[in-house]
Amino acid sequence: MEKYDKLEKVGEGTYGKVYKAQDKTTGQLVALKKTRLEMDEEGIPPTTLREISLLQMLSQSIYVVRLLRVEHVEKNGKRLLYLVFEYLDTDLKKYIDSYKRAEGQILSRFPSRVIQSFLYQLCKGVDHCHSHGVLHRDLKPQNLLVDKEKGILKVADLGLGRAFTIPLKSYTHEIVTLWYRAPEVLLGSTHYSIGVDMWSVGCIFAEMVRRQPLFAGDSELQQLLHIFRFLGTPDEEKWPGVSSLRDWHDYPQWKPQSMANALPLLEPEGIDLLSKMLEYNPSNRISAKEAMEHPYFDNLDKSQF
Ligand code: ADP
Ligand code: MG
Repeated sequence: MEKYDKLEKVGEGTYGKVYKAQDKTTGQLVALKKTRLEMDEEGIPPTTLREISLLQMLSQSIYVVRLLRVEHVEKNGKRLLYLVFEYLDTDLKKYIDSYKRAEGQILSRFPSRVIQSFLYQLCKGVDHCHSHGVLHRDLKPQNLLVDKEKGILKVADLGLGRAFTIPLKSYTHEIVTLWYRAPEVLLGSTHYSIGVDMWSVGCIFAEMVRRQPLFAGDSELQQLLHIFRFLGTPDEEKWPGVSSLRDWHDYPQWKPQSMANALPLLEPEGIDLLSKMLEYNPSNRISAKEAMEHPYFDNLDKSQF
């Protein structure tokens, strides 16, 4: 790791710290991410190798953060792997927060054409993963990196969690956020599909518009109740099979609220797209590819992507 100058800690995520660093020879800025993948006597386990080559393949898209190198490090007799990524200014959470702090001032609006462009790029990145048979499963603003100057958004934090279940606590014992989790996951479905990512995309879309999370639950039950209160309690008619899911109970009955009233800043095409992303039945939920063709994007200059 002598090749790099560690500059500052930029993130403390689910599995460890992420540092901004500079390559001493080329001057390139990179993000160093220590993985929890340890090597054994024989070197890198084959499952790990598979994950890394998948990540390398996916990061060929400009809408997925680029994995530049993998470095092996010996530390206190332990052999660790560092992933070296291209560096981006910020993540979408910090970006949204910067607008929040500016509230009340003239520059406080998150321009709707930026939201449209970010959502389109997010769909591109997600579609890229899905067309390679990979689900992200943890899409949230912290896992989307932003280049403010160029107006680019990229999907990050991909791949390494797939062989494992989504952790409930991070290594600092912080609770992992449930806010972007699809209702079928919260209800204990073991059948994951691309719909789990598209639900998260919908939550992120609404959060860009509102500048605050759409469903901010602090437990799995509270998270479900937030969703039901807004979209109405699902039933067999809206979502065939829902009452056979593992964690289904008799929940309070709510009627759906008007999405347009809840998101007055979003134009009707946007409301329509959002409602298709927040569709209860995962098999009817819009895919990333379909979303990219939605009329909401009609006035976007797609040739720039
Ligand atoms: P974790 O699995 O720990 O959540 P992430 O890859 O999501 O790891 O990184 C944690 C945080 O570090 C991100 O939310 C982001 O703020 C920052 N970060 C990660 N990768 C980069 C990068 N390539 N450039 C800039 N910041 C990054
Ligand atoms: Mg993360």
